[in-house]
Amino acid sequence: MPCFRCGARQTDPVRGASPWRRAVRADHQVLVCPDCQAAHDWADDLDRCASCGSAALVCRLGEVECRDCGHTRDAVRDDQPLVPSAPSPADGLSEEVAAALSRVLRRGP
Ligand SMILES: [Zn+2]
Ligand SMILES: [Zn+2]
Repeated sequence: MPCFRCGARQTDPVRGASPWRRAVRADHQVLVCPDCQAAHDWADDLDRCASCGSAALVCRLGEVECRDCGHTRDAVRDDQPLVPSAPSPADGLSEEVAAALSRVLRRGP
C-alpha cells in the first residue's frame, strides 16, 4: 500500500518497527510514509478518534479502533450495491447483423 499523501511505496521492511504509520482516512486503512509524517499537517486529512482525537487509528473487520485509547466505532461499510449494468449494445449489433443478412439473402441466386 503506498503512502496516501505522496504515493510513495513502502520499501523493504527493516528489522524492528516500521517508520511507516498506519492511519485511517474516510474509514479506509492508509499508510503514511516517514517523509509525510514530518509535515506538520500530515494528519489533517485523517480520521481522528472521537474520544481522544488521536490519528493513530486502525481499520479492521468493519471497525475503526484507536490505538491510543482503544475507542472503537463502526466503519462505514465498503460494499456498495453494484451499479446496474449499462444497456448493452446488442440491439444495435443485431440490427447490423439483420441488415447484413438481408443483403446476403437479397443477393440470392
Ligand atoms: Zn508520503
Ligand atoms: Zn482514542
